[in-house]
This record gives sequence, C-alpha cells and structure tokens, in this order.
Amino acid sequence: MSVSDFHWGVSSAAAQTEGAILEDGKGASIWDEFSKNRKKISDGSNTFYGTDFYHRYREDIDIIKTLHIPNFRFSISWPRILPDGTGTINSKGVDFYNKVIDYCLEKKITPWVTLYHWDLPANLEQKGGWTNRAIINWFNEYVTVCCEHFGDRVKNWMVLNEPLAFTGAGYFLGVHAPGKRGLQNFVAAAHHAVLANASGASIIRSTVEKAYIGTTLSLSMVTPYSNSQKNIEAAEKVNQLLNNFFLHPILGMGYPLKKLKFLNRIEEVIQAGDESRMKADLDFIGVQSYTREVVKYSWLTPFIKATMVSAKKRNAPFTEMGWEVFPESIYHTLKELSKIPEIPPIIITENGAAFTDVLLPDGTIKDTKRKEYFQHHIEQVLKAKSEGVNIKGYFAWSLTDNFEWAEGYRPRFGLVHIDYENNFKRTIKESGKYYSELILKK
Ligand code: BGC
Repeated sequence: MSVSDFHWGVSSAAAQTEGAILEDGKGASIWDEFSKNRKKISDGSNTFYGTDFYHRYREDIDIIKTLHIPNFRFSISWPRILPDGTGTINSKGVDFYNKVIDYCLEKKITPWVTLYHWDLPANLEQKGGWTNRAIINWFNEYVTVCCEHFGDRVKNWMVLNEPLAFTGAGYFLGVHAPGKRGLQNFVAAAHHAVLANASGASIIRSTVEKAYIGTTLSLSMVTPYSNSQKNIEAAEKVNQLLNNFFLHPILGMGYPLKKLKFLNRIEEVIQAGDESRMKADLDFIGVQSYTREVVKYSWLTPFIKATMVSAKKRNAPFTEMGWEVFPESIYHTLKELSKIPEIPPIIITENGAAFTDVLLPDGTIKDTKRKEYFQHHIEQVLKAKSEGVNIKGYFAWSLTDNFEWAEGYRPRFGLVHIDYENNFKRTIKESGKYYSELILKK
C-alpha cells in the first residue's frame, strides 16, 4: 500500500459535539447527567450545546470536503438511538445518523463509525452501567440496531473508544462520568468492556456485509524517570496497565496480570468460558496516541505504587492539557505493536493537541504549535510505516474544537475553531489548512 492508499481522516465524537441533548427524543447520557454538576467540569460547562453539530453537521461535512479529507470518524450516541438503552428505538435519532451518513456519501467522504464513545444511556447506569454484566446484552442490542439501520452504507466500524479511559476515569478514579470509584467497579467495568467489545465485533461481522472492524485503544510510550531499579519497575507496571491491559485480552492473549498483581481481583468477575469470549475478531486496531508518560516509583499511590512526572516538572514542552509533546512516542508505540505477532493492521484513529489559538485581526487563526505537532507526529507515523509497520491510516483529533470531557470547552483540539460566543462560527485554522495540503501532496 502506498501512502496515497492510506486512509487520511479526521475524528470526532457525539457527546463532544452534537449538543441537542434533549431534542427529538434523545435519552440522557451519563455525560449529560455528570456535567449537570458544575463542579465536575473544570470550566463549569456541560454537554448541552456541544458544537451544535446536531444542527450544523452539513456545514462540518462541507468543511471536511473543503479540506479534502476523505474519511470522517464520528460516533453514534447510544441514547439518541435507544433513549432507555434498550427497547424502543428513537426513529428521529436513526434519521439523524442517516442524514449524516448520506451527506458524507454525497460528498464522497467515507464514514467511520464508533459505536461507543463514552455516552452510556443514563438509564443503564442506574442499573450499574459497565459494572453490570448485563451490559453485554444491552450493548449487543444497541450494536444490532446500528448495524441493521446503517450497515448498508457504513462499512468501517470501531466498537469501543479507549476502554481504559472510560473504565479507569469513569469507574476507578471517578473523574469522568459516571463518577464511580474503586477497584471493584473498575475490574468489573473493564472485564465487561472486553467482553462487549468482542461480542460487538462479532455482531458487526455477522450483520454487515464487507465490514471493516476495529476498536480503539489509548497507547503511549512509557519511560522510567531514572535508571533506578524501582523506577524501572514502576514504569513497567504502568506500561502494562496503559498499553497492555486491554490490548492483550482483545488479541486473545489474556490479561497481563503477572506485573499487575493488584488487578488479580478481575478474576472474581471472570466466569467460566470467558477466556475464549475475550478475543475480538478485528480487521484493525485503532491507536490513539497523544503523549508519553514518564514514571517514577511512589509508595503513596495506591495499588500501582507509581506516579507520572509531569512534563512541566521535567522542563519538557507540553500542551494545554499538560501533556508532553514527544513525537517519538507514537513511533515507539507503533514499533512495539509491530513486535506482537497477533497484531492486526493499525490505524491511528486519534492524534492531536490542545493549544491556545491566536485570532488575528484579519479573522484568520494562527495555531502554529498545533500545526507543528501534526507535522512532527505524522512524520513519525510515516517513518514507522516506511520501516514496515503495517499502518493503514491516520485520523487527526479533532475536526473542530469541542467539549473536552471534564476539562470543558477550554482546551481546544480542533483543526477548525469554534466561536462559542458567536453562534458557533467555524473558522479553519492554520493547522487545518496544513493538514489539508499535506493530504493533497501525499
Ligand atoms: C478521546 C477523545 C478526547 C481526546 C483528547 C481521547 O482520549 O477519545 O474523546 O477528546 O482523547 O483528550
């Protein structure tokens, strides 16, 4: 495959962009509920308006067209399709995604759909959400509805978005929706996510003709802070947790518990026969990579006894999220993945950075740091590809600025600026123009 056959794309997610959370029969999601509490979101904002994608999807797809980006990854909001999570289908929700998909196809943009990008129906959370094993059946029902309604036109599917993030932040740390805490919640949510991932993939395989199926994982290079034995061991534990805890079972290699003894409790939720149900039938792995983690030993940190040393403390460059800018991280991740014999082809399904935009008097938007971030990361991806890593695509995060979860609207990741004060006006940034030119040259 030459670089020109490569899938260049741009990514987004329903809960971060759609808004319209009470319109046309949509049910509440856990993020709608969680963000009602202003204290949970650092700028006190919520999911109510998003970027108004629900009403402006045509404008956004037109922008994707203008930028010559051939692929658009977006997610379906489960509670927009099934307001209670299961049962009655909301036909207006189905209509909305039909319109988005059809408009993409009309513009010759290929839709890539993520089934679960963190917006669980609130009604299902009341029954335990991801900690309840019944979620596998609830999810299967939702996936079946999506495949039956959209599978004639959507061929590229991603089952889950970053299971470690939504189970870790949502069910262990409690900093994301639904705000649950504790190891017991985490291991249950994690195991059910692994099983739902596999069953979801197999439903797509059996219902959608010629489906191309993946799931997405957040993966980062992990480096010990120093060469002390303690720091090396701490970094290895973090590496196993961040990079392998979901990847290995999904590939049929089981949970990497040898170095993560504190996660042995997951065995309490594993039922007879689950081992063979964890492996997912995937055509690709979606890699989402933003930064690297530098780790040192910490007796204070419960369970893992390790802590991250921030880029700021290390005098390394960092983004508005405080994440180190370290392009070699994505190269390293890709090379490491390529050493695993079970690994399917790889697509970078997210990579990007939050930086402050400079609005110039002539109305243009300068975001040179973001442009350079893309430039340097794409170089590393293509380097890994030229060395034989089986990489089939790259999707930038994100099409527009949007609701950055617990950080609210302050961090901006978009190739396109949103003026929230001025009727959600969209302006293509310098980085957006750069990405467009890069795609045209390849
Ligand atoms: C998520 C996105 C998020 C991005 C930046 C990824 O973990 O999939 O929804 O906006 O990272 O934090």
